[in-house]
Amino acid sequence: MSLNKQGLNTVCTHVGELEDKQHKGAVSPLYMSTSYAFDDVDVKRYPRYFNTPNQEGLCKKIAALEHAESALIFGSGMAAVSTALMAFLRAGDHVVLQQTLYGGTYNLVTEEFSKYGIEYTFTQGWEPKDFEAKIKENTKVIYVETPSNPLLTITDIAGVSAIAKKHNIVSMIDNTFASPVNQNPIDFGIDIVIHSATKYMGGHSDICAGAVASSKVYMDRIFQLAKNFGGSLSDYTVWLLERSIKTMGIRVRAQNENALAMATYLFGHADIDAVYYPGLPSHKDYELAKRQMRGFGGMLSFELKPYVDASKFQKSLKLIKSSMSLAGVESTLLSPTQTSHALMSAEVRAEQGIRDGLIRFSVGIEEVADLIEDIEQAIADVKVSTSITAN
Ligand SMILES: *Cc1c(COP(=O)(O)O)cnc(C)c1O
Repeated sequence: MSLNKQGLNTVCTHVGELEDKQHKGAVSPLYMSTSYAFDDVDVKRYPRYFNTPNQEGLCKKIAALEHAESALIFGSGMAAVSTALMAFLRAGDHVVLQQTLYGGTYNLVTEEFSKYGIEYTFTQGWEPKDFEAKIKENTKVIYVETPSNPLLTITDIAGVSAIAKKHNIVSMIDNTFASPVNQNPIDFGIDIVIHSATKYMGGHSDICAGAVASSKVYMDRIFQLAKNFGGSLSDYTVWLLERSIKTMGIRVRAQNENALAMATYLFGHADIDAVYYPGLPSHKDYELAKRQMRGFGGMLSFELKPYVDASKFQKSLKLIKSSMSLAGVESTLLSPTQTSHALMSAEVRAEQGIRDGLIRFSVGIEEVADLIEDIEQAIADVKVSTSITAN
């Protein structure tokens, strides 16, 4: 279902833009007002009601990008995740969540849900049948994340949506890693799509925001809670995010290309043990990824051979910085064991296939040759320093 017939970059550039009637400026004017005089008492504009002119404009763009009827923007990805989940869960309800989840979502569920009497189960595996196996009488929501963090596993979106529909359960997906450029889960039957807009939508590592897109009926239910939780985004950042999304199509397509090139290079490398990228034919879900993704994204992971110390390797890089976040135009990487998954026990990490030498790589838009050169010099540097200490 595509509600907007225009192509991706046209939607990114134009949908939802506000016209500057006064001065005919090229970009949307920014309205910072928190107070609006009303002619009609029914329309009360207020930032926390998610209905300022800039919020409404950006919501139209995001809805169009996700082939959804409606959308809302939040102050962070976690505000979007928590509000969407809590809008469909109450005491006594149960939610089935994918085993490998973004750390913040995992923390939300495991640290908060029991306080509200909400039950949860994580799947063991990524197949639709693994989700179905965990459904109970009181299951109200199924929650998916694909490609997953950090191993880039792929979940069959159509398969899981069909199971949710069969059991009359609301399906949600965290579509952050793919971005709407590469994947539109609503086309495969998912009910609610969630984004950390901090990542590819923002794309320049200078915005923290979130988004939810769905049908009008579901978005209305989410809005009822959103206005009470109060997780709205400042209009200044709304405006900046709208500006950023104009280039999302070209940014993400460039990142797709660079990530594939880097994955191919790493795959053949003598000092690399494994590469996880859904765009490599060697990836176990390559065929599935091709069915549901238009591009394979800018995220990949790789394992260094045990003799290449992962933290020394990171310190030896000159161009590629170690950083917690991802999806910026600049390439960054991190060791999940030391950062995003540090709070997990070693057993849980092992269960999920996260080894100590694993590096998660967010590929930017730099020239591939420069990225390769940086990795080459870092590996050479670690090998030299290691052999000196060994003697
Ligand atoms: C970053 C991220 C989030 C959380 O978003 P914030 O903007 O940091 O709150 C959720 N899901 C995924 C996959 C993410 O990468």
